[in-house]
Amino acid sequence: MTQHFLFLDESEQRWLDILTNHADEAETLAHRLVGDGRRTEEGCIVTDTATPRKVRFRGQQYAAYRFIFCALNKEMASFDDVVRHRCHNRLCINPEHLQKGTRADNQRDDWDNWANGVDHRFL
Ligand SMILES: [Zn+2]
Repeated sequence: MTQHFLFLDESEQRWLDILTNHADEAETLAHRLVGDGRRTEEGCIVTDTATPRKVRFRGQQYAAYRFIFCALNKEMASFDDVVRHRCHNRLCINPEHLQKGTRADNQRDDWDNWANGVDHRFL
């Protein structure tokens, strides 16, 4: 994990605290969320919710996939970092389908997806 001690935004500060002081607790919760998910034919692990599932950790609410990505990869995510779904399924919480990118990457993904559809062979 890369550490920046300058210019941490609020989101990074929170993750720095979690990864420094509560990493095991966060990892346990992340594993439990993944374990509770349902595996699809495409290999996604989804939650049976209409919108991406939220999770509460130490008084703060997170999108579950973002929480899972950061907790399992020990990575901080700033406000400008997005956790992307390589499978384009926003309900998916499979750690192997998640990667960090920028908002611009995410937009580009959406365009590619609209233009070409998703090819699960490349996941
Ligand atoms: Zn997936």
